[in-house]
Amino acid sequence: MKKPGEISRRTFLKGMAAGAIGTAVHGTFAAFADDTASSTSAESSALPGSQSYDIINCDVLIIGSGNNALFAADTAISEGRIVTFVDKGPYRQSGVTGMSWDYFLGQNHSVPIKALADTSVLENAEAYTRAWEFIDKKNKHNRFVYEVNHGQTLPDRDENGHYIPFLTEDRTQGQFLRRHKDFALVKSNVNVVDQTMITDILINDGRCVGAMGLHLPTGDFKIFRANAVIMATGGCTNIYGWRGVSSVTNSVTDNTADLDMAAFRHGARIINSEFANYDVMSVYPEGLSTAFGAAVCGDAQEPQCILDKDGELLFDLNDERIWTDRSFFCRFMAEQIDVHGRGTENHTIYINLGNYEPRYGNARNIPLLAKFGVDVRSEMIEGEPEMFEHGGSPICDAKMMTDFPGLFCGRNYRSGSGIMNNYYTGTYAGHCAAEYAKNNPVSEIDFSPALEEYKRLHEIRTRSCEDSVRPHEVRLAIQEAGYKALGPYRTTKSMEESLAQLEYVRQEMIPKMVPADTSQVFNIEWKHAIENYNLLDLAEMSVRASLMREETRDAYVRGEFPQIDDENWSCVIACSIDGDQMKLEKATYEDFNKMREG
Ligand SMILES: Cc1cc2nc3c(=O)[nH]c(=O)nc-3n(C[C@H](O)[C@H](O)[C@H](O)COP(=O)(O)OP(=O)(O)OC[C@H]3O[C@@H](n4cnc5c(N)ncnc54)[C@H](O)[C@@H]3O)c2cc1C
Repeated sequence: MKKPGEISRRTFLKGMAAGAIGTAVHGTFAAFADDTASSTSAESSALPGSQSYDIINCDVLIIGSGNNALFAADTAISEGRIVTFVDKGPYRQSGVTGMSWDYFLGQNHSVPIKALADTSVLENAEAYTRAWEFIDKKNKHNRFVYEVNHGQTLPDRDENGHYIPFLTEDRTQGQFLRRHKDFALVKSNVNVVDQTMITDILINDGRCVGAMGLHLPTGDFKIFRANAVIMATGGCTNIYGWRGVSSVTNSVTDNTADLDMAAFRHGARIINSEFANYDVMSVYPEGLSTAFGAAVCGDAQEPQCILDKDGELLFDLNDERIWTDRSFFCRFMAEQIDVHGRGTENHTIYINLGNYEPRYGNARNIPLLAKFGVDVRSEMIEGEPEMFEHGGSPICDAKMMTDFPGLFCGRNYRSGSGIMNNYYTGTYAGHCAAEYAKNNPVSEIDFSPALEEYKRLHEIRTRSCEDSVRPHEVRLAIQEAGYKALGPYRTTKSMEESLAQLEYVRQEMIPKMVPADTSQVFNIEWKHAIENYNLLDLAEMSVRASLMREETRDAYVRGEFPQIDDENWSCVIACSIDGDQMKLEKATYEDFNKMREG
């Protein structure tokens, strides 16, 4: 039965076909369920929650609004598409770009990208080649000027207010491209829906036709219908341990692999989940630890500040690779700590800045730490390898499209992304999605999967059980297991222990996970509980893929297989779902591209 003022599914579908991009329709699931053959009114009236939903009509939907999303939006807009950003956090403050952190801007970064495009079998070489060619035509690789104009570069001023250039032959320094977000808003064909967590993608007959999720401040359900969807939800590092007040990462806490894992549960193959990237962050005083806003860091740019437990330099600074090869830096550090016993009993090393003039992000924290009685110039303070990037994302073809037509992923790099890769793959993904949206407009949509997702989310919020566990306890257990297995030094034993712990979480803790509060309004425990499903899947596939890869590669060392083995492992490992089990297989981009292009 349809109550006055409610929209029936049929009316709603008609409305959608006629709906203009950017328009929203409001409805209730009660009416929706009434009209669905398999649902009875009894079922609909039993639905928990507000039962209302908004449907937002989009052309190109971009999930996330970090720099990957912004690069994608730039191209899609310039090709005449209308872009809707949906972001879990507040627009401008979310994502890595939302952080106040300095960033080295290199002019010559396009050289390694070109090399990657030409040679790599481990990256999506075909997509990189096309991205390279596309950008060559569009911007002539003028990334430097572009980024200087969109960031907060050259921040130093002399006494007359003139900038003091920190310019070497090929780079300058500044902050992330935060003004990029303001520039995007000035354009007329852009919409923003923020503080909205996408929890699932909408698939009809094997094609992605939108996405859905919760508006966090109200708990309202939102459905986005789109001609093309780009996932740009960043790397998820929240599976890596916990120290004081954060997981052992300086990256974005809202990035919990929700989209990657939603795609995985629908059947997409996730690759590169075994890879991550690390640097060293101070972890003292507790409470200021592993946060770029309050710590000091030593990484491949500042290895002269990193000491072992005895106060000796950890790295051989004469070895060129320490300065130029991030992966080598991480592997070397892992071996020094775990094989040569140069770490402390807390598995930490030390940071000491001495007389060195560090980059802005570190320099500005020196007086802050002094307020807590810590002098980073004269004292050795504990630091720890923390995970700042993680690789897991869906496999993409040469047009940046995932296993699902209509679903694109701008993040397609082994150890995460980085601004340079985002510039290429994000910009190019925006072009591919724009073309697809233009040539494949969505007409009718079956919205019944939205009802299923609505029920799933509200079951998580309203369930009860004896001996319940709180979402944060589940999260800590996942993070503990992730820390055991996914650091820069990995052993078969630690990974097997981690898998056993994750299995315990899946079987024993998740079914008993109950938020303390059933409110729909800014219910953080509800949000955490929903995210925990994604963290658990990501952690498990990362450990399984890492266990399968019997070699050392990229930024981590495998204890039992300390050599890189190109003969057997020049491939990606693709994880997909087979019944209720994870299936891992070797795969190549080349095969996927050939299959797609027929
Ligand atoms: C502290 C730090 C320093 C770095 N320094 C450098 C550097 O100097 N040079 C360099 O090249 N690279 C650097 N990197 C790496 C680089 O900055 C990042 O790889 C890049 O900014 C990531 O951009 P992104 O758009 O992919 O992800 P993000 O910027 O993380 O954006 C992801 C967005 O997705 C949103 N989101 C997540 N889940 C959902 C969901 N379910 N629904 C809706 N929205 C969602 C988030 O809110 C966020 O806004 C650094 C990274 C970190 C963390």
